[in-house]
Amino acid sequence: MEEAFIKIENVSYMYEENDGFAKIDRYAVKNVSLEIKEGEFVAVLGHNGSGKSTLAKLINMIYTPTSGKIYIKGRDITDENMSDEDIMGLRKTVGMVFQNPDNQLVATIVEDDVAFGPENLGIPSEEIRKRVDDALADVGMTKYANHEPHRLSGGQKQRIAIAGIIAMLPECIIFDESTAMLDPVGRKEVMESIIKLNREKNITVLMITHYMEEAALADRVVVIDDGRIISDGKPIEVFKKEKELRDCGLSVPQCTELVHCLSENGFDIKGECVDVVSCANMIFEALNL
Ligand code: ADP
Ligand code: MG
Repeated sequence: MEEAFIKIENVSYMYEENDGFAKIDRYAVKNVSLEIKEGEFVAVLGHNGSGKSTLAKLINMIYTPTSGKIYIKGRDITDENMSDEDIMGLRKTVGMVFQNPDNQLVATIVEDDVAFGPENLGIPSEEIRKRVDDALADVGMTKYANHEPHRLSGGQKQRIAIAGIIAMLPECIIFDESTAMLDPVGRKEVMESIIKLNREKNITVLMITHYMEEAALADRVVVIDDGRIISDGKPIEVFKKEKELRDCGLSVPQCTELVHCLSENGFDIKGECVDVVSCANMIFEALNL
């Protein structure tokens, strides 16, 4: 059987809080099990506070599970006896891109920023040059190599942050609401980069989002509510269950909702869709056009 790239086994995570009187234990992740295959593009969907970032930080070894196990390429990352070298290796294997691009850029020139990660890994300078060029090309930012990051748009900054991760040659990237602070153009640019990295470089993608339309672009959607996985499947299967999603504060893509609405109001339309083109085709078909 093919080994999972990431295997999460019965993982729980508890934050200790103090309300001024006593310590309160609050579980942010509750007995989650999840397997992600190499090359998969998985969206993790959930409303604010559902536990998405905590889960991402567990996979990226920022936190250690309160209970349960996490394996990356078969290696137990919850093993306390893991060497520093192993930890470094795993951190390089699984990169993470956060929400705010301004917090992720460190240098005053774009190409220096992208070189920062590989420089810290002790990579020889010729190799760094090549990696920086390749990474900038991958996110379509080659012509900005000598620009100042703070003058770029939000979407461009975020693509530079992604290039900085790619330059460390990760096998998997976790995007934690990496489009949340961007305008529609920036969101589209970043989504296109994410899709391209997955399809063309076979990078395993775990994309945390609360945008239904973005989740619909993944191979698979995992829905989290109150620290638990409540749905896991192809976007079309997950978004079929509109009521269940609404019950936990989420919705479905607008085109999915339109088809449900037409069908409920007696319009003879069959099937499900999660993208605009399929939606248009279903309507044409129903109208016999
Ligand atoms: P999401 O990313 O889905 O918005 P989080 O993983 O950030 O959710 O948070 C899940 C739950 O854990 C929330 O109830 C949040 O308030 C709580 N939480 C997150 N970070 C901390 C922290 N550092 N200390 C205590 N509670 C936290
Ligand atoms: Mg979060």
